[in-house]
Amino acid sequence: ETYKAAPNRYQHMSYHRCGKSGLLLPALSLGLWHNFGEVDRFDHFSQIIYTAFDHGITHFDLANNYGPPPGAAEENFGRILKKGLKPYRDEILISTKAGHEMWAGPYGQWGSRKHLMASIDQSLKRMGVEYVDIFYSHRPDPTTPLEETMGALSDIVKQGKALYTGISKYDVPQTRKAAALLKEAGTPCLIHQDRYSLFDRHIEDGLLETIHDLHMGMIAFSPLAQGLLSNRYLQGISPDSRAAKSTGFLQKEQVTETVLHKVRHLSIIAQQRGQTLAEMALAWLLHNDRVTSVIIGVSSVDQLLNNLKAIANTEFSSSELESIRQIL
Ligand code: NDP
Repeated sequence: ETYKAAPNRYQHMSYHRCGKSGLLLPALSLGLWHNFGEVDRFDHFSQIIYTAFDHGITHFDLANNYGPPPGAAEENFGRILKKGLKPYRDEILISTKAGHEMWAGPYGQWGSRKHLMASIDQSLKRMGVEYVDIFYSHRPDPTTPLEETMGALSDIVKQGKALYTGISKYDVPQTRKAAALLKEAGTPCLIHQDRYSLFDRHIEDGLLETIHDLHMGMIAFSPLAQGLLSNRYLQGISPDSRAAKSTGFLQKEQVTETVLHKVRHLSIIAQQRGQTLAEMALAWLLHNDRVTSVIIGVSSVDQLLNNLKAIANTEFSSSELESIRQIL
């Protein structure tokens, strides 16, 4: 049967302006890095996408290489669009990226014009769409001139293959230079995507402020530190978890006693707030008004529904913030 979106889908989500642009992003976005590959089940992950959209998640974050194998997440998302989501295309923001290793040879990765131009065309074809909403340089390239990478991003927008452009994992000087080049090219940088969670606060060291100063939006990835910031690993490493799967990017070695010790203590604060640790970890990011959106990754509808509850309470007392700081 065909999918029909829930009529009340815009009732509970909040939408935040992305920097000084005209675009609003949902507080929570959904990422397809894991759980949408060939190794995963179609009916299972299509249900995740539909449930997300039914709850006001209008933004889906992809990249050329998400799978496995690389390209599979875009292909699968394209199939879901074709099967059920296409009538809602104008209610949806699709982002994709290029820069990490995607195909063989010297043009299969990094930031050359050659790579970016070929990759966006491949992504559009895999997803069966005429344009994406946001196209990112997935990582800075230490050897390609930034002028070339930003020139290609700007041209991709001007060619109508993307509506906006963004950068991911660029440090402070790279971000400043990229922003200046894109502005000069007439294609302001919409957004910066970086890792940010209770366990990884590196962007508080200047980058968050720089992004704000440059009027870009900030979208956080791996907000649960790939699942560590939840009850997932408190009873050991379950075989269906990211740390156990051979295709998962979280390594068993990262599930240390030091991490679990912090997780147990953070869970107590979460409990006192009436939240799960996952909810609290997401709420902690949303509490910061410099964060436009938080990209979650989920392996089940249950996890998604749990994470959506985070929006209900994003207030933190100063004593809660202090207790959290001490645990970290
Ligand atoms: P998270 O840190 O949120 O980790 C997601 C994992 O956490 C899930 O797969 C699941 O693990 C576990 N989890 C999620 N919700 C719950 C819950 N309520 N209770 C218990 N466990 C839970 O995010 P990701 O690392 O997946 O990153 C999110 C997105 O960010 C990606 O999909 C991608 O779009 C983007 N990203 C971008 C990068 C970049 O370079 N620009 C790099 C990395 C990510 P399990 O599978 O074990 O159930």
